[in-house]
Amino acid sequence: MADCGLFGIYGHKNAAELAYLGLYSLQHRGQESAGIVVSDQMTLRQHKGMGLVTDVFSDSATLSELVGNLAVGHTRYSTTGSPLPGNIQPLLVNCKGGPLAVAHNGNLVNANALRRRMEQEGSLFQTSMDSETIVHLTARSQKRNLLDRMVEALAQVKGAYSILAIARDKIIAIRDPYGFRPLCLGRLGDAWLVSSESCALDIIGGEYFRDVEPGEIVILKENGLSSFQAFDSSRHAFCIFEYIYFSRPDSKIFAKNVDKARRGLGKELAVEHPAQADIIISVPDSSNTAALGYSEASGINFELGLIRNHYIGRTFIEPRSEIRDLMVRIKFNPVAGVLKGKRVVVVEDSIVRGTTMRNLAGLIRQAGAKEVHVRVSCPPVRFPCYYGIDFQTEDELIASSKTVEQIRKFLNVDSLGYLSLDGMVRAMAGSPGEYCVACFTGDYPVKPEEKVEKVSLEKM
Ligand code: 5GP
Ligand code: MG
Repeated sequence: MADCGLFGIYGHKNAAELAYLGLYSLQHRGQESAGIVVSDQMTLRQHKGMGLVTDVFSDSATLSELVGNLAVGHTRYSTTGSPLPGNIQPLLVNCKGGPLAVAHNGNLVNANALRRRMEQEGSLFQTSMDSETIVHLTARSQKRNLLDRMVEALAQVKGAYSILAIARDKIIAIRDPYGFRPLCLGRLGDAWLVSSESCALDIIGGEYFRDVEPGEIVILKENGLSSFQAFDSSRHAFCIFEYIYFSRPDSKIFAKNVDKARRGLGKELAVEHPAQADIIISVPDSSNTAALGYSEASGINFELGLIRNHYIGRTFIEPRSEIRDLMVRIKFNPVAGVLKGKRVVVVEDSIVRGTTMRNLAGLIRQAGAKEVHVRVSCPPVRFPCYYGIDFQTEDELIASSKTVEQIRKFLNVDSLGYLSLDGMVRAMAGSPGEYCVACFTGDYPVKPEEKVEKVSLEKM
């Protein structure tokens, strides 16, 4: 699968409606498709579709037909498996012991090999998602109950997975032993909640309870919560990019506040790469918090120099490169009155391909800025992510083949400074071994066993 949003609720009569609201606040984690599966203890019902959560559930009748007091939902951002209707999650199947639906966030690194083997043996795969291998392995297991079957299945997969599974009478929440992707538990009265990010708990009036631990399996059932450590978890690898870019600042993930972490990155950046400038601006929304941190530490005023149009999707999912360039212009408009005649520091959370920043730097200059200094709140992204963040090939990463000075020239800016690896880890106030920083170092906690097939959007 990919970096996606997961939300589950057990023990509430409005489970589907609340799952809808939960997904709505996890929309930033995936805008391609959304789905909810609900159980009334006997039957599992689903509604899924392409598009934003509000598009998929645009009709209130749809939600009222999803009867039951436990539900699991998913918003998808594909990195493996094409953006096709058949690939929408949760994936609902009928298998021995009853119906089961699975929603997955993360990316498996050995799914293709497992799939080829099972196809050789006669398995009929219905989707092109890596997540389907987990369902097949579970269905093929000869263990007595669903939990044991899932444990046996997961012992065979490698990579990143936060999973919510729903059966007739329970929700099962699982995090891989490295804990690449976040997953937390919450409470809403007597009901149990489980979510990729804590912001979704807040939105429905719930409270953060605790994280699902790496390697842990949590079961939400009529008799409450039970859990066990299914897999040894001696090495953690929390995705540091969740803090840099992906998660919402109002969330707590990996037991830490995203706002605080992101501000820390901005402050550290100001210390490492100061600038003689008149104003600090951000690239809304993703670098707002880091820019505030930079402004605070440097004493230079934060200004709103770029206004973002919120009514278009992320530039990232636009299909063709020419359109992608155009989308940057449509998405951000510079505020001439703020920028004119100024020496401007643009704080950006990350530079991936470099397209966004190059276009923005041009726009900021056109608006009259005297100097443009770019500061990036993470180190150069030089290596692909095999665990769910959407940069899967080295070629697409500008820093994989260019030095910082070459990138500065490409962006056509007066100066460019990236936060150092040490500075980033220091700002996080965590131990370096806690995080996955493979996109900066190439040091992969789980070796990619095969090349991940890139989803070519051009082909769709
Ligand atoms: P670039 O044009 O350099 O590829 O994109 C960098 C911009 O995209 C930054 O503003 C950053 O916030 C955002 N970004 C970084 N990683 C991702 C990602 O995985 N998905 C999306 N949609 N945007 C990203
Ligand atoms: Mg951004």
